Amino acid sequence: MSVQSGGSPMAELRRRRAELAERVAELTWDLGGLTYEMAVRDHYRLDVLAKRAAELQEADAQLGEVQRLLASAEAGVHGQCRACGAVHSRGAAFCWHCGAPLLEEARPSILAADSTAQLGSDAAS
Ligand SMILES: [Zn+2]
Repeated sequence: MSVQSGGSPMAELRRRRAELAERVAELTWDLGGLTYEMAVRDHYRLDVLAKRAAELQEADAQLGEVQRLLASAEAGVHGQCRACGAVHSRGAAFCWHCGAPLLEEARPSILAADSTAQLGSDAAS
């Protein structure tokens, strides 16, 4: 498709999205099959269905987050996890990849700005 390759956060996100989409499809299929069997036997185990549904819901939520990330990354609105380097959406509280809290990263960087104002002489043209 486009630009990035080789271990970039974006490439990993796309891979993760494919994984999650597959998992969601699998779980959906599973849940359907399970429900069908229960219907055939006229015996519904709601605890089992609820557990599977919860699994599906979780995978679906993860997929949603990854899709949001990809969408916002394309719009240029994201940050990167300090712990693992994965990109995340602006409002995310935790890294989808490693689980590290992200809100701490919103510290202002002005505090350390004083000594870093030197630019090398970059003879461009
Ligand atoms: Zn992370």
